[in-house]
Amino acid sequence: MADELIFRPVAEVAALLDAKKISSVELLRAFVARKQAVDGRVQAFNSLDEAGALALAAASDARRAAGQARGPLEGIPVGFKDVIAVEGQPLTCSSRMLANFVSPYDATVTAKLKAAGAIPFGRLNMDEFAMGSSTENSAFGVTANPWDLTRVPGGSSGGSAAAVAAGEVPLALGSDTGGSIRQPAALCGLVGLKPTYGLVSRYGLAAFASSLDQIGTLAHTVEDAALLLGAIAGHDAHDSTSFKAEVPDYRAELAKRQGPWRLGVPKEFFGAGLDPEVGAAVKQAIEFYRSAGCAIKPVSLPLSAEYAIAVYYLIATAEASSNLARYDGIRYGHRSKAATDAIDIYAKSRAEGFGEEVKRRIILGTHVLSSGYYDAYYLRAQKVRTLIRGEFLRVFRECDALLSPTSPTAAFKIGEKSADPLAMYLSDIYTIGVNLAGLPGISVPCGFTGGGLPIGLQIIGQPFQEGALLAIARAYEQAHAWHTKHPALT
Ligand code: GLN
Repeated sequence: MADELIFRPVAEVAALLDAKKISSVELLRAFVARKQAVDGRVQAFNSLDEAGALALAAASDARRAAGQARGPLEGIPVGFKDVIAVEGQPLTCSSRMLANFVSPYDATVTAKLKAAGAIPFGRLNMDEFAMGSSTENSAFGVTANPWDLTRVPGGSSGGSAAAVAAGEVPLALGSDTGGSIRQPAALCGLVGLKPTYGLVSRYGLAAFASSLDQIGTLAHTVEDAALLLGAIAGHDAHDSTSFKAEVPDYRAELAKRQGPWRLGVPKEFFGAGLDPEVGAAVKQAIEFYRSAGCAIKPVSLPLSAEYAIAVYYLIATAEASSNLARYDGIRYGHRSKAATDAIDIYAKSRAEGFGEEVKRRIILGTHVLSSGYYDAYYLRAQKVRTLIRGEFLRVFRECDALLSPTSPTAAFKIGEKSADPLAMYLSDIYTIGVNLAGLPGISVPCGFTGGGLPIGLQIIGQPFQEGALLAIARAYEQAHAWHTKHPALT
């Protein structure tokens, strides 16, 4: 029973709960047992408040017994990337700086999930402050890819992806600033959705690069992603960049939105650097859509292909240097015991509290924003960002969505790229433009390499057209069985 439960789509588990075939407490225990069995090897969790989660599961069972179940996520555990606030739980951002910090409040997404009856289940490992593509930048150890424990799960939401892929939790939240949900989803064989900028509130998400950050979902199936997105999306007065719009019932959209669609294939996303096995799997997925009657249109995104990474590392580091200024060892965060005066507290606390990649970005971002360089770097990057958005929107005049690889390679070895930041930055070459343009993007499993590693197909949607995006993804999923395969973890 337990094995069947842990990999079962949430939509089906919810039906079992509704029919009272299982209880939420039993469900939770199955995931706790699975975590105990495998997390010593996967290391996806930074922490788990087991007693607290069990109490919430018991409360959920009581609501259900009283006829007060709150919807499809009632009694379902959801893992949290350790960058999203849950009241009373650690919020570390996988940084020594926040190693002992406990959140005094709920993020808006947390409050919404609790209101939907879902159960926060664990704090999941990540690259420190979401900076990275492999989860190797965590201060608390490296998470392993459940498909091959010698490889990375991707990042920065690598703990979220690994936990879901390993069957330790059925759903998880991540955050995506340049690819941090889609890339680990691809490397772990999951559905990873980054919503349109502004659809999901960022209140309670520790900021990395505020104009790019967006909370999104990791799940086994497109329908599960739709359920989770529906629970967290919507306007929030606490986030001034939150968009005022009705949130559709995304699950209903899946049935309503039928193809055939007009799908663009950006030619620059299939060039040098793309692993041949990944390219072949993605091309087969494109052929599937063609055979299903969709119009496949070759399109071109020259600016995005050429400049997205450079523009991203100017804007993201500039915003990060400003956002991370708050960790000064005085207001909160790690305080150096060696410090002798106020300036010394700032310098030593930050030197001790931040890891190497975070420091690299603060230095770069401070330089980019400094007088004399601001116009040459930051302002110019913002202008190119506007051009990149324009380039996407022009292509969307004739396409409903775009198809591309999510990541240029399947999961790489732990340690393989950690000494070479530029090689690591290239992991996001196909995902970063989507954040610069504020668009929604999803990664769905589209095959395996000869060595048994998952491959992801990225589908990029029009702004606020998550309904169509999910429907396009689901059309592929329904015709393939990749999402039903799970790592053996033997
Ligand atoms: N890998 C990219 C970076 O290191 C993106 C990270 C993210 O999306 N949070 O910045």
